[in-house]
Amino acid sequence: MKKITLLLGVIIALPLLIGSAQGEILHNYYTIQEDTEELANMYPDIAIYREHGESSLGGLSIFSVDVALNITELSEEELRAMPTMYVDAAHHGNEQMAVEAAYFFLKEVLEKSASNPAYLEGKRLVVTPVVNADGYSIDCRNNAMGVDLNRNYPYMWGEYGTSGTPSFCPASGTYRGSSAGSEIETQANMELMSGMNMYVYLSGHTGSNDIVLPWKITGEYAVEIPDWELYEQFLETSNNVSGLGYRDPSGAGESIAWGYGARTAVSVIVEVDELQWIGATLEDARGMLDNELKMYEMVWENLTLMGGNIEIKGIENGKIALMNMGWGAAYNITYGKQIIGLVESGEEIILNVEYETDGSMTDGISYNRMNITGEEESITEITISIKEEMGIVEEENGIPYPNITLVILTVVMSIMLRNRND
Ligand SMILES: [Zn+2]
Repeated sequence: MKKITLLLGVIIALPLLIGSAQGEILHNYYTIQEDTEELANMYPDIAIYREHGESSLGGLSIFSVDVALNITELSEEELRAMPTMYVDAAHHGNEQMAVEAAYFFLKEVLEKSASNPAYLEGKRLVVTPVVNADGYSIDCRNNAMGVDLNRNYPYMWGEYGTSGTPSFCPASGTYRGSSAGSEIETQANMELMSGMNMYVYLSGHTGSNDIVLPWKITGEYAVEIPDWELYEQFLETSNNVSGLGYRDPSGAGESIAWGYGARTAVSVIVEVDELQWIGATLEDARGMLDNELKMYEMVWENLTLMGGNIEIKGIENGKIALMNMGWGAAYNITYGKQIIGLVESGEEIILNVEYETDGSMTDGISYNRMNITGEEESITEITISIKEEMGIVEEENGIPYPNITLVILTVVMSIMLRNRND
């Protein structure tokens, strides 16, 4: 009896021993939750850990980390307005390497930002390492209700590539759920994304080692992607850094279909390495995920270019020169009475300076940074201030008011200083 207990002990402990001898082993639900929370707590000025949802069985939380410069000083509204990259993983609970990719990416962005805050400037990153907590905790594709969460989103829901029958572990079917968005994991993820100004959404899966488009663009059920030129630029750059090709999705109602169709982000699945549950170490995993992580990094570094991005080049002789620096076209460029329907990527346009009735220069150029509209009319709208960007200070009633402020300030300062000397 003792021998058997000892033998069992060795068998159970062996993978742990090997793991610790070679380095840390891959995460399970509890270690990824703990490590993610700990990681965020190491960077309190730039990261906040949140539990924003619960799994179907109710016992496990769905957690995310929100990253931005001086994050605790930002209001909910300011955070919501920032260009955002969203990374999630494990809609399919048995796709472990995608969780590791999300974790590594979060860790590396935090490490880089701690030594170089400019790496975060003007942008927000949100990471949810495990969407399907129940499934991930028992190495199952579907959630505890037998639903394939990546067929459950309310965009083209059930149109193709889904099943009408629940399927539980170890089976791994594509049950779309009883209705569009029926699952609480799906709802939690949608609510989280709805609170973001999402520019890019990368959803992590494993298996085919490529990139999956939000909608089918070939064959039956093909739908035109309204921002295809932007997608092409994105896919080409992505291919250059990672070597990953792209393909149509296998089913409707995927999270990325909703991410693009409803929330207007450039949304793709990144199918990372084929590896799932094996005795690999974290170090092995980092090596195997290198090309995908290069792609994640490329997206972060170019985030504000993912769409139209109008910059003011200069103002001269009553003309304003603008250029679209983004990878996609800009739409409905509006300034005073002037409206331009489309400015291609890399194209320059000239507008006439306009004036208000009080003689001051009209400010504010607005445009749409994507062609797709999404579920909120204003979701892709951007307004830039000519005065702010060009550092223009206008005079009021002919008297430059900053100088008055300066005079008052000098007087106050000199009085204060005199008092101090007394
Ligand atoms: Zn998957």
